[in-house]
Formats: sequence, C-alpha cells, structure tokens
Amino acid sequence: MNKIDLKSLSLGEIECFVLDMGEKKFRAKQIFKSLHQQLATDIDEIKGISAKFKQSLSERFRVEALKVVERYDSKLDGTRKYLFRLSDGNVVESVFMKYRHGNSVCLSTQVGCRMGCVFCASTKSGLERNLTPGEILEQFYAIKRDTGENIGSLVLMGSGEPLDNYENVTAFMELLHDVEGQNLSYRSMTLSTCGIAPKIRELADSGKPINLAISLHNPFQDERAIIMPIARSYSLEEIVDSCKYYIEATGRRVTFEYTLIEGENDGLEYAAKLAGLLRGINCHINLIPLNPISEYSKSKSKSDAVISFKNALERKGLVATIRRELGSDINAACGQLRNNYIDGEV
Ligand code: SF4
Repeated sequence: MNKIDLKSLSLGEIECFVLDMGEKKFRAKQIFKSLHQQLATDIDEIKGISAKFKQSLSERFRVEALKVVERYDSKLDGTRKYLFRLSDGNVVESVFMKYRHGNSVCLSTQVGCRMGCVFCASTKSGLERNLTPGEILEQFYAIKRDTGENIGSLVLMGSGEPLDNYENVTAFMELLHDVEGQNLSYRSMTLSTCGIAPKIRELADSGKPINLAISLHNPFQDERAIIMPIARSYSLEEIVDSCKYYIEATGRRVTFEYTLIEGENDGLEYAAKLAGLLRGINCHINLIPLNPISEYSKSKSKSDAVISFKNALERKGLVATIRRELGSDINAACGQLRNNYIDGEV
C-alpha cells in the first residue's frame, strides 16, 4: 500500500484521519504543528503523541523529507542552489537568495516541464511528473533547516509551470499560509506562469492575493509562439485580458518578465510594441538578461541595449527594472543542475 504523505494534508484532513483512528481531535493540531512549525522529517519526530499512536500512524502515513544531493554556495552574495532528491529518486532544484529586504526562495513545482520554451533547460526532457504539495513545501522547509535562517518570501519560478499543477500548487500555498504552520502571507508569494489564461482567471477567483508574474519575453504574437509554444494556445490578447481580470479581482499589480536576447527581442521596436500592449495596466516589467544554456545558442543582450530598452519603456510611462543577477559565480541556469545529474555529471 502506498503510504499517504502527512505533509501534503491540511489540518482538516489530518483531523478526519485522527478521529477515524479513534484519537482525540486535538492530536491533529499537534501533528500539524510538528510538521509545519518544528519541520519534522519523520513520524518519530512528531511531538506530544504516544509511541503507540506513532506506530499506528506509520502503518498508513509517511513524512516527505528531501535529501540534499548537491549544494552550490555563492561566495559573492550568499545565494545557495540546491539539488534535492525526492523519495522516488527524482531530483528537483531550488534556490535560496539573500536580499536587503530579507531572504527568499525559488521553488520548483514539477519534475521537468512540458511547456517547451526554447530558452529553458527545465523542459528539455519534457514533464516527468507533478510535485505534491508536500514536496513543494519540503523545498522551503529543507532550505530553512539547512540555512537556519528565516525565509520571508518565495517565488514559484523553478522547474515546472505552476498553473499546469494547479491543485497541488494552491494546496501548497494554503499549507504555507496556515496560522498553525508557517503563517506566510499570500502577499509574500509570487507565482510565475508562461500564460495559461483560464488558470489565471481561476487563480483570481480563488481569493488568494498572491503576486502574479507572466513570462512574456516577446510582444509580437508570431515571434512569441516560436520561442514559447504555449502562445499557440493562448494569444497575448487573451493573456493580457486575464491579467486585467486578475488585477481587478485581487487589487495586486502584475509583473511581466521579459528576458532580453541579443538581436532577437531587444530592439526599440519591441519596447514600443510592449509598451502598447501593456498600456494602462497596473504592472511592472522585470527585464532579465538571458541565462545561456547549451541547447539554445543565443546570447544575452549587451548592457547598453538593456538600458536603452528600459529607458524606452519608462518614456512610455511604464515601470521597469533590470533584475540583479544573484549568485553569478554559481550561475547554472534553472534546470541545468537536474540535466547534469541525469547525464551523470553531478
Ligand atoms: S520557462 Fe517555465 S514554463 Fe517555460 S519550459 Fe521552462 S519551466 Fe516550463
């Protein structure tokens, strides 16, 4: 029998199981707090319950705990990149980042990805499987245990398309937000998507005021479809409309991520088109110098092209920033560590 991961269950779900096992309801809260506040990695580490109850729990349940396969530490800014092993042997990547305003983590939501963006290493072997809520959560907890530091925010920007794993990702956010757990505010969570328009609307309707980031990368529909196959399913117009709906429903500003690729999308005509597309929308544009991968032979834009692009957007009244490169001495692109591992190079 496949055992159920306790870390993926809500407090209400644990209460149902606990009552079903003939125990008092308050035991569920003890289990939940041990998992989500004390960050227990095993049923034996759960505080306040008897050895006999632990034994009965172990017959039906398990506790997901990630193992660190590799850790790369930046000597420049404290960034740490992790390659974690899941209990089925798959591996995923996560990143710990130190900012002036506090610590943040970048988490994966799937093993691999099926979206096929040409500039992304995570999609080269397709989608292996979705991560469970407990596995996404455990990346956060494993980093907390390893660094011993507080983590004030997170971005779902590692391997995988979060909205392609909608149920597990929203369950993960609810667990992390729970007052009996880490009690992290939704406003400290950012979900980055390549633009699955109907799911953006569903997220807006879910009532969670999380930050939404859209990987846009090209303001021309035909050109975007070449680098991001998802554009064949949802046009730029549909994506922008779903973002307006999101802003209306949540009151949150949306971020548009724009990776600058030399000679591909960094000309001023692209800046003008982008400004036209986003005119009047409560948004912020994050300009990202391309992180090169071996399968995509393009280069990142020169710094003067990046500045000109930013200035052109600002002249049109848009707010744009250039993403600061963290951990540039350990600068493996997202997905690259896992690919190296699969190829036997880690
Ligand atoms: S950029 Fe994101 S959505 Fe696109 S292939 Fe990579 S992980 Fe998937």
